[in-house]
Amino acid sequence: MDPLTHVFLGAATGLAVCGKRLGPRAAVVGALAAFAPDADVFIRSEHDPLMYAEFHRHFTHSIAFTPVGALLIAALWIAWPKQRSDWRPIWFCAALGWLSHCLLDSATSWGTRLFWPFSDHRAGWDLIAIVDPTFTLILAAGVALALKWKEWRFTRASLFVCAGYLCLGGIQHQRALTAQGLLAVERGHDRALLRREMIRRGRTSSCGGRSTSTTDGFTVTASGLAFSRIRVCAREGHCRKSQRNN
Ligand SMILES: [Zn+2]
Repeated sequence: MDPLTHVFLGAATGLAVCGKRLGPRAAVVGALAAFAPDADVFIRSEHDPLMYAEFHRHFTHSIAFTPVGALLIAALWIAWPKQRSDWRPIWFCAALGWLSHCLLDSATSWGTRLFWPFSDHRAGWDLIAIVDPTFTLILAAGVALALKWKEWRFTRASLFVCAGYLCLGGIQHQRALTAQGLLAVERGHDRALLRREMIRRGRTSSCGGRSTSTTDGFTVTASGLAFSRIRVCAREGHCRKSQRNN
């Protein structure tokens, strides 16, 4: 996900959980911790361009590394004698911000090593696109209102809406995949084989309550807040069929 969204999500999470104890500091700690995991982009080599692809979203994006990463961020405050007495809530707030980054990246299509070192599986739940202005604006509004009025419940409300938004992305995504499978059967293809091909070669994304699933043959888009529209397009991009599917 883009850095701006991570920063707002970290700030919102920090304020929602630790705002009462830390005040506006929770926004700074959460935002910084949510920004930090992407520092892995600096792990690269001039001689090996694949090193970047290997290590981006690797150990810095795992749940297991979260307490360590949070400690690195909290150390910035712990080093400051006046802040030292609050090191526990600061570390906890940083851990929440860091974890929010790992989970949000896992909600996109690009794989994330969420369970490293226990598993090399790259989590990619296809719930949201890499950039989604709607999602970002909801978080930004929650943080801005909370800081302006010193009311942390605004961030809780924005996180609640964002969770619903991700659920909508998941529902639409499943609908797109189901419609794609049904269409494959209609055309005489092996649905299970096609599903495997979709996972191997296909492309899926969700954005703004829409989910698009693309594989070699065609593209299926599920959209509409009433969950009622399925649109099927040929690979060339020309729409061939549009149907109501209640
Ligand atoms: Zn990341």
